[in-house]
Amino acid sequence: MGKAQVAVIIPVYNEEENLPELMRRLMPVMQSMKKSFEIILIDDGSRDNSLEILKGFTQSAQVKVIELVRNYGQHAAILAGFSVADADIIVTMDADLQNPPEEIPKLVKVMEEGNYDVVGSIRKGRKDSLLRILPSRVINMVARKITGVSMRDWGCMLRAYRNNVVSRMIQCHEHATFIPALATVFAKRVTEVEVEHEERYSGKSSYPLSKLINLQFDLVASFSDLPMRLIMYGGIMMSLFGVCFGIFLAIARLVYGAQWAADGIFTLFAVLFVFVGMQFFALGVIGEYIGRIYVEARKRPEYVIEKVHSKTT
Ligand code: UDP
Ligand code: MG
Repeated sequence: MGKAQVAVIIPVYNEEENLPELMRRLMPVMQSMKKSFEIILIDDGSRDNSLEILKGFTQSAQVKVIELVRNYGQHAAILAGFSVADADIIVTMDADLQNPPEEIPKLVKVMEEGNYDVVGSIRKGRKDSLLRILPSRVINMVARKITGVSMRDWGCMLRAYRNNVVSRMIQCHEHATFIPALATVFAKRVTEVEVEHEERYSGKSSYPLSKLINLQFDLVASFSDLPMRLIMYGGIMMSLFGVCFGIFLAIARLVYGAQWAADGIFTLFAVLFVFVGMQFFALGVIGEYIGRIYVEARKRPEYVIEKVHSKTT
């Protein structure tokens, strides 16, 4: 099969109940576009029956299934998909049908007509729990700040990328990455369209709050040194505060005498705790960076492909 016009990349982690419905809806959409296409599904080390179901899909010539050795996470899985995709326009989406496949032609159309490099999407009437939406708000705000690109919704994976942006992304070999933000490094013309959002078809999200916090840190740490700078400013403010406080204590000591100063010892303890706490926090943030430097320095592959299944193999 030669170069396709459109490739769809779908990472799959424990989605056995969603997969048949996904393909039932995706296939007709792709066929209706009247373009050559390929669908690349990446099994990100699923523990359920997903891989077997995926292999079944390779009966049709347009479907490729990438079997990863183990679970590497959604963004690494997408990178693996990118490495195999061979198309002009590459669309990513989730397997849980929260992004309706019916929106794909819209993204492709906008990309072609406006000659964009990246077309993102804004989830209209987002169907997620508040606990899931609030962290996303923060992520969106931070992402806008640090990439300097004013996209509204970064978390929605239903996105279209131009082939040149994708090939530059694969060359990055970053572990801690956030694909929509990474893409902005290489994309010149970026836009967003509104898309529908649905409840997860079946199963539950594999993003608990802890994973979201980690993802947030990946995003911030791999694109800016903002946290480190904040700590520096905080440190300066705290020193200034400490100096002022010292002067205040000295004056109070002169005015009210030694008795008062001795009684103030507990205040000092309180101050000490604040400072020690801040120091630990600062160390923690620095540790996050060092941890990531360590991961990058080891130069392990971000993912390992066990096998690519397709009709011919
Ligand atoms: N996913 C993955 N590897 C993981 C976690 C998730 O490939 O370790 C896939 C998952 O199968 C789905 C997409 O990434 O297609 C988004 O995951 P999920 O629906 O759990 O996240 P949410 O919609 O809550 O952001
Ligand atoms: Mg989902």
